[in-house]
Order: sequence, then structure tokens, then C-alpha cells
Amino acid sequence: MPAAALPILVNIFVAGMFVASFLTIAQLNPGFGHIRWFALSYAIGMLTPLSEFVLPLSPSPTPFMITSFAGLFGGIVLMAPAISRLHGRRPAWWIGGVIFISGLCLRGLVWGGERNEFWYELTYQIPFACASWFCAATSYLHGRKTPLDRAATALFTVIGAHFLLKPFAAVRFGSGATASDYVGTTYATVSQASSGILLIAAGLLVLIDALQTVVLRDRREAISDPLTGLPNRRGLHASFEDMARRHRSIPAAIAIIDIDHFKRINDTWGHQKGDDVIRAVALCLEENCPALSTVARIGGEEFVLLFPWEGPALAQLACENIRMAVAQLEFKRVETVTVSIGLTPVAAHEDLSSAMKRADGGLYKAKQSGRNTSVLEPNETVDIPSDRDLQVAK
Ligand code: GH3
Ligand code: MG
Ligand code: MG
Repeated sequence: MPAAALPILVNIFVAGMFVASFLTIAQLNPGFGHIRWFALSYAIGMLTPLSEFVLPLSPSPTPFMITSFAGLFGGIVLMAPAISRLHGRRPAWWIGGVIFISGLCLRGLVWGGERNEFWYELTYQIPFACASWFCAATSYLHGRKTPLDRAATALFTVIGAHFLLKPFAAVRFGSGATASDYVGTTYATVSQASSGILLIAAGLLVLIDALQTVVLRDRREAISDPLTGLPNRRGLHASFEDMARRHRSIPAAIAIIDIDHFKRINDTWGHQKGDDVIRAVALCLEENCPALSTVARIGGEEFVLLFPWEGPALAQLACENIRMAVAQLEFKRVETVTVSIGLTPVAAHEDLSSAMKRADGGLYKAKQSGRNTSVLEPNETVDIPSDRDLQVAK
């Protein structure tokens, strides 16, 4: 068996594994069909080791010489748009097209040139280097700027540089007198092994990046409400814990906001109109909430506002602002929409559910007293700074 046959076979197998992995991720995750571009990139790249394996056995090597060059070259060029699509960016197809066509022309220009001659070997490798650097630039510009994307940028830069080192190795070790002799040379072993290792590393990085993108999407979906885009109950818990961790010393207020007689809106105008009202109220809450607030939708027509406590007067003023802003919303056909609000301060180290229970008590009183109002439910068991305390502190 020729010296380079083993690394060539390993490269075919590994490329096949990547094709299968990317196809599986795309298949199992709706909305991630574009991950198939990576599978296509590796499938096209696989043509190179396949051609190099078959080439010495074939009586007419020319077609395999073409696919041996164009396969890996096209595969690397295609990796860049795949990276762009993974990050939801528009691929720079025209740059890829220019690189691919220029590379083919360059290859055509030196076709039949003197093998093992430095300039011939360099001209052969330049397109691969350019394609790799196109990937590096794409992951730098279109990536999420995470350490993973930075690593991908660095790796594609190194891959580009490694192609430019190959002419030196070709001249030093010899790449065979003909294309058919290539597979038996030491250079072929070194070249296949080094490119193989680097392209496996690149494949693993983009595979992890693709999986990470899927996980991030799922995590985002798990904590947000599809109707309004606001955090859901789970998202509210996450924000509460985050706030408690970062601002342990800053007290918070929590308000439960419930649309009044919402069932009537649904019954009179239909569920679709009801959804429109929920969306409009959600937007109104976001636009009128105090700074550093979290607005969440925790159920049908119930929202929660989590915001910094700056004393009872300011907290109640914030709720009244919201109540009046909702009452001023205008809808086609639907009469005035109002909300009732239960408000309470959250004590340091208090958990979310006990504060919510108290806010719910305030909401119940607001509903009892005729709706379209806000009620502050004080927290007697804990020491919450009053307006006067806060003014003295200022
Ligand atoms: P109250 O003033 O006492 O709050 O009365 P209400 O009618 O607003 O409250 P109730 O809890 O009786 O009704 C809430 C309704 O919200 C019942 C349910 O069908 C409706 N609902 C829950 N989720 C959704 C949703 O996602 N979209 C729509 N359109 N309606 C929803
Ligand atoms: Mg209601
Ligand atoms: Mg309700």
C-alpha cells in the first residue's frame, strides 16, 4: 500500500463523519436546515482524498487531478457562507465566487507545469490559502465574537498559512514526478496528515459552534413567551436570581399586572383580537416601565414587573404611570382596556414566590375595589427603606 494511502483513507472517513454529523444536527433541529451547508462543504472537500486515492489506479488521471484540486478548494470556499448562515448573516457569495473562479484560473494557468518546482507548488497552494483566509475573515466578522469564534478565526488563519508552507515541503521531499506518483511520496504523507489534522480541528470547532447555536436558540425559546417575546415565568425567575446575585444590596419591587375583564374581550371580539390586546399591553409595559425593569408575561393576561425599589411613593407612581398608559391605548372596535396592579417591595434574601404571593394579595384588593387601580401591599415583616430613608440617604 502506498505511504499516503492510510492518511488519505482516514481523511475520507473523517470527512464522511462530518457530513453525517452536520446532516444529523440539521435534521434533528427544525429551523437549522442551513447547517447542511457545512455537510455540503465537507462532502465536496471529500472529493480530494477520494480522487487522490483513485488517481494512481486510473488510466486517465486528468479528471481526478481536476477533482482533487477543485474538491478541497470548493469545500473550503463553501465553508465561509456556511459560517455566515450559521450566525444569521448574509453570505458574501460574490467574494466566494471570485476566489473560486480566480483559483481555478490560476490552477489552469500552471496546468502541466514542472512539479516540485517552488513557484509551481506555490501557485497550486495559493487558492487554498485564500479560501482558508476567507473563512477566517468570515468567522471574525460574522461570528458571535465568543472564544469559540475567535478560535475558529485563528485556526482558519493557521490553515491558510500551512498551505503556503507546503511548497517548501514539496521542494524538500518531492511530490512525485507525476500526479499518479504523488500518493507514494513522503510529501503526500506529511501533506495529508497535516491538512487532515487541521481540517478535523476546524470541523470540530464549527460542529461545536453549530451545536452551541442550537442550544442558545433552545435556551432563549425556553425562557421567552412566543406571543409577546417577553420573558416567561422561567425567564422571570432567571432575571430575579440574576438581580438578587448582582444587586444584593439594592431592594426591588414586584408588581403583578392583570388585564381587567379580558375574558369579555375574547368572548366579544375573538381570541385573535385578544392576542392583539395582549401584545399591545406587553409593548406598552415595556415602553412605560421604570429603568432597569424586567417585564415578563407569566400567564394568559398576567404580567410581572420587577424593578428597583426606590420607596413606596415612587413605586406606586411607576405603577400608576403604567396603568394610565394602558388605559390610553386605542384599539379598533375594542372598548378601553384597563389593568389592575398589585405591588409589593421584595425584602433582601426573599424568594420570588413569597413576594409574588404578597403582590397577588394586592392585585386581589385592586380587583375587589373596582379594577383599573393599583394597590401597594406592604411587607411588614421586613425592613424596607421608606421614601424618607431614601431621601436622607441621598
Ligand atoms: P379579571 O378582571 O377578574 O381579571 O377577569 P378576566 O376576564 O380578565 O380574567 P379571567 O381569568 O376570568 O380570564 C382570563 C382569560 O384569558 C381566560 C382565557 O381564555 C384567556 N386567555 C388565556 N391565555 C390567553 C391567550 O394567550 N390569548 C388569548 N386571547 N386569551 C387568553
Ligand atoms: Mg384579568
Ligand atoms: Mg388573570
